Amino acid sequence: VFQLSLPLNFLGSIYREMSQAVIDMGTLFQLENAKPAIREIHNAKPLKMDGGSIEFKNVSFAYTPERQILKDISFTIPAGQRVAFVGPSGCGKSTILRLLFRFYDPDSGSIKIDGQPVNQVTLESLRKEIGVVPQDTALFNTTLFQNIKYGDHSATETQVYEAAKKARIHDTIMKLPNQYDTQVGERGLMISGGEKQRVALSRAILKRAPIIFFDEATSALDTHTENEILANIREILSQQQCTAIFIAHRLRTISDADIIFVLKDGVVVEQGRHEELLALNGIYRDMWDMQEIRGTNGIRD
Ligand code: ATP
Repeated sequence: VFQLSLPLNFLGSIYREMSQAVIDMGTLFQLENAKPAIREIHNAKPLKMDGGSIEFKNVSFAYTPERQILKDISFTIPAGQRVAFVGPSGCGKSTILRLLFRFYDPDSGSIKIDGQPVNQVTLESLRKEIGVVPQDTALFNTTLFQNIKYGDHSATETQVYEAAKKARIHDTIMKLPNQYDTQVGERGLMISGGEKQRVALSRAILKRAPIIFFDEATSALDTHTENEILANIREILSQQQCTAIFIAHRLRTISDADIIFVLKDGVVVEQGRHEELLALNGIYRDMWDMQEIRGTNGIRD
């Protein structure tokens, strides 16, 4: 039994079932009886990062035998790129993240980070190198300081403050009567969705992970907060050498990505830059036009 050093709410449905701040992965896998527990191979070595490239090759995956989620999917994310996965709800975007993290193993195919198959490295090293800014950040029932420090248990006080400053939450915290000692979570102060997201961002900054996932980091926020957070993310990414992966619903928020992967029915149906995808006049174009017409395509001031 091992414990994750990450906020786990990006696991979505699984996480909600667990609903506990600190998750015992052993228990998590017992919940999912359909699949064998994930184990480290006997001589597992720590993952050696070299820029953070990711390769999925002919990966197929199903949670249950009746429904194939990923079908022989292949794609490459070059080191240091900003990429996005888009596609209809339930098409398997978050599943890609779960496979990369090795919460599940694919039924066939291979997944590599910097050339190393994820099933041959230690789980601890794998999870240490991937940061996640989830949709809905869970705060632990402790102080704001500890909540941020969770990104790196060995961080100094100054590093925690620096991370909070970069995520633009430091000033807000300093205005609270108890500042960083403010208790949050279910038994403490409830902070807004935008503020929670900034805590998640602070954790990710502190973690200095070479691969960072933003799981719809801007959904469910008001326009002002969303704009601000997007700007913060861009700024942070420009200062940090890492591979950034966005899982997005609203296309406008990711239209400047280096590569956009369009997922449908378990495969990548289109990939390229925003302009290239628009020119294809395919699924991406349809999604884009639809969102523009509905006015749901991201940011409106
Ligand atoms: P969204 O955009 O709505 O977040 P998504 O593209 O990220 O969706 P996934 O979370 O990857 O979709 O899920 C893909 C499909 O697999 C969904 O239909 C989901 O209901 C199903 N699914 C997810 N987790 C499990 C599970 N543990 N057991 C069975 N089915 C699951």
